[in-house]
Amino acid sequence: MPTAPAAFLRFLALLLFAMLPAAVQAQSCDGALPPPGPDGRVAGHFPYGDASDQDIVPAPAGFGLKPYCRVHRAILADLQHLLDAARADPAVGGELRGLSCHREVARQRNVFCRDRSVSAAERAISVAPAGYSEHATGYAIDFAVRPARGCPDAEACMAASPAARWLFANARRFGFEMSFPAGNRQRVKWEPWHWRWVGTSPGEPGAAQARLVFARARAQYPADPGIRDPLRVVVSSQPPLPVVAAPPAPIKKKGKRR
Ligand SMILES: [Zn+2]
Repeated sequence: MPTAPAAFLRFLALLLFAMLPAAVQAQSCDGALPPPGPDGRVAGHFPYGDASDQDIVPAPAGFGLKPYCRVHRAILADLQHLLDAARADPAVGGELRGLSCHREVARQRNVFCRDRSVSAAERAISVAPAGYSEHATGYAIDFAVRPARGCPDAEACMAASPAARWLFANARRFGFEMSFPAGNRQRVKWEPWHWRWVGTSPGEPGAAQARLVFARARAQYPADPGIRDPLRVVVSSQPPLPVVAAPPAPIKKKGKRR
């Protein structure tokens, strides 16, 4: 008959054995993804690190559908102005709410691994793998509309809603652009609900940092509707004056020697 410690050890071993598949699955949940390409993208998504804790603050009161909607502090003023403008415009036909706000890398892994019924590569078409989501930066927001009028959150039917049309027409005025437009060459699923903040102009406080974070994405796969600044021509130094060549001297004919 096994002693009490031996029985306990056997129970522990059985427990660990039972938990092993779940642990392996959790580890390999995003392990089946293709390796990053030459530009660092995985399944179309650029890599993004976590925002600094002190930059992440609560979103305006009542905006988040869940209690923990938090965003980068730089977007707060523009987001508030956007919400105020939307609230004052009857064309919106509802209320803009925050379905998803800042998601740190660890939480993104939970979101990515939630649906194991499809492969990691298939999931990556609609959900960014951990470490590859714009939501980690705190500058990205998934908007939802209330009332939803039969269109589930994060579905393309949202684009047909008056609120989404209002965003297409107005979000730029508040520094937001749509990261993944329809048919984007980045080959990320069309997300009419996903908007990232880059500021209305490069000089707006915080905009330079946001634009640096999204520099590669914006250069290679521009947002649409996107924020484009007018081209500025900067002359850094006086161009050299053209050198006018002296006219060739007339050729003197040599006289015959007499
Ligand atoms: Zn999103």
